[in-house]
Amino acid sequence: MSEPKTRPPFPLMAGLKGRCPRCGQGKLFDGFLGTAKQCGHCRLNYAFFDSGDGPAVFVMFLTGTLVVLAALIVELKYQPEYWVHAVLWLPLTLGLGLGLLRPAKGLMLVTQYHFRAEQRLRSSFPREGEDGEDGANG
Ligand SMILES: [Zn+2]
Repeated sequence: MSEPKTRPPFPLMAGLKGRCPRCGQGKLFDGFLGTAKQCGHCRLNYAFFDSGDGPAVFVMFLTGTLVVLAALIVELKYQPEYWVHAVLWLPLTLGLGLGLLRPAKGLMLVTQYHFRAEQRLRSSFPREGEDGEDGANG
């Protein structure tokens, strides 16, 4: 048949790479953090994805913990001037925060699809081979 035969991607890799959770080919993001409307390869409708604040909170806690621990260790061991702390930790905080946000959001969205978390809230979550328009509301 004309359906593209693709194996479902490993959810962890698809999420970290920002790829479609169904085919692993199409892009999950439109821009830095905006979710695309649908997969450009298999046409999976992304309208049901909603990561909420989950990725941001996770990245914020992880980044904060790592930076505060590193700052405490450096302060206790070397006792540098305050400007050294500013030069070290401000860029590290921004880099970690922005660098981890997109993979964390991709991982959250792909995991949401994989475990069909949305299906428990709305019965119209698209399954394999569906576009998300199953007429369940009629
Ligand atoms: Zn796809």
